[in-house]
Amino acid sequence: RTVYVNGEYLPEGEATVSIFDRGFLMADGVYEVTSVLGGKLIDFAGHAKRLERSLNELDMTYPPEFDDLLEIHRELVTRNGIEDGLIYLQVTRGSDGDRDFAFPDAETTRPTVVLFTQSKPGLANSPQADKGLKIISIDDVRWGRRDIKTVQLLYPSMGKMMAKAAGCDDAWMIEDGFVTEGTSNNAYIVKGGKIITRQLSNDILHGITRAAVLRFAREAQMEVEERSFTIDEAKEADEAFVTSASAFVMPVVEIDGDSLGGGTPGPVAKRLREIYLDESLKAAI
Ligand code: PMP
Repeated sequence: RTVYVNGEYLPEGEATVSIFDRGFLMADGVYEVTSVLGGKLIDFAGHAKRLERSLNELDMTYPPEFDDLLEIHRELVTRNGIEDGLIYLQVTRGSDGDRDFAFPDAETTRPTVVLFTQSKPGLANSPQADKGLKIISIDDVRWGRRDIKTVQLLYPSMGKMMAKAAGCDDAWMIEDGFVTEGTSNNAYIVKGGKIITRQLSNDILHGITRAAVLRFAREAQMEVEERSFTIDEAKEADEAFVTSASAFVMPVVEIDGDSLGGGTPGPVAKRLREIYLDESLKAAI
């Protein structure tokens, strides 16, 4: 694979980053994951915009020029012959060669920018979408700025392992009785045809797929309600699903051992997945 590091395209084995990089020492960095279908980028503009916001929130100075970022993404897709897959982009604060809690001087410290691709043939035809996910609920013990897409992913990784240990696929996180989101996706339930998902705040990541799915749902005259819901309400729902840039719309068929909708993906989730894939492929660049 060819990867991108700080302005250079290199074979992955030759790419290096300083051991003093604050991304490595302090998880002082942000990221984006953009999916590629048929060699084209899905919702690139959304990801570029959120990246800019995450950087701003952390006073990071890397100015991500839209056209430059797009060019790097496209170059990696071409060089690595990606038909279906993902592009991972990470920007960390870099380092001034020392370790200190205070941010280094932004005038003299350049951020570290890394991109690489992951080939995922048949990404949009995942057999998982026909089966649906089994999830468990776990406490949300993450920090209070989940709207910033930082590389602090240890707890979500632990959550995924807790799910695996329970024979499940993923976990939904609970705070004060309410579902915040999945380990790496936004969470939804469907009740009486209405799509319910938590309102945007600092408590959840503002999913790019979430924004698109809610827009498509409204355009298709489906009813949408943005509000918090409890895990008990979720277990009583007709359907549940999650969204993310890599899983698109993925049905959930079991929560903490209780099956939903007879244990098979529901009609609303299936329809939204179709609409999402159709519409976002049309708009892919
Ligand atoms: N919530 C969390 C915690 C995530 O990590 C992700 C994906 N990285 C999402 C939601 C979904 O966001 P998106 O649709 O932009 O991939």
